[in-house]
Amino acid sequence: MYRQLVRDGQHPQALIIACADSRVSPEHITQAGPGDLFVCRNAGNIVPPFSQQNGGVSSAIEYAVVALGVRDIVVCGHSDCGAMKGLMTPEALASMPNVAAWLRHSHAASRIVCEAYPAGMDPKDHHRALALENVVVQLSNLRTHPSVAAGLAKGELRLHGWFFEIESGQVLAYCGEAGRFVPIDESEDMPVAHTPAQRIAAPEMARVAVAAE
Ligand SMILES: [Zn+2]
Repeated sequence: MYRQLVRDGQHPQALIIACADSRVSPEHITQAGPGDLFVCRNAGNIVPPFSQQNGGVSSAIEYAVVALGVRDIVVCGHSDCGAMKGLMTPEALASMPNVAAWLRHSHAASRIVCEAYPAGMDPKDHHRALALENVVVQLSNLRTHPSVAAGLAKGELRLHGWFFEIESGQVLAYCGEAGRFVPIDESEDMPVAHTPAQRIAAPEMARVAVAAE
């Protein structure tokens, strides 16, 4: 099998950006084998917004989309996430300056939960809300990457937000249209996180084409 994978090259079905948590293995969750998934894992399943600074996550995204031509990108969060707990208790990160700096990319999710959710929420509910909102925030960051933005505009890419519940083994998927996470139903199409592809100037371009005729 490995010889064949070298002979034919890799043609992964998707790029999955997941947490580095040892209990959240994308290959195990999806029952994938070698060559099936292009995987990028880090603390908090974070996608830093595009910048000129080189980064491991940005490079993995660019390579997966441009060189490998993946059509689906999944950001996968999970229950009982230590990174999300760190966001809730910044004082616990005092001795981990790199983790604290990395988690800045999730501060938008923190603010959403602190300001737009009921005050005095149970810490368990707060933690879950934070992990779910973080997936959606990272999906937004993903769209700042030029290769992803262009792929979406061409209708060649689909973005998915997943949430893996460790205790039940269930995977929820973010449905952009409904604005919430729903259990994945294998008999139905996989929910997508973003609105259908469009080119903002398309109607105008069409008018120009008609006028030119
Ligand atoms: Zn985690």
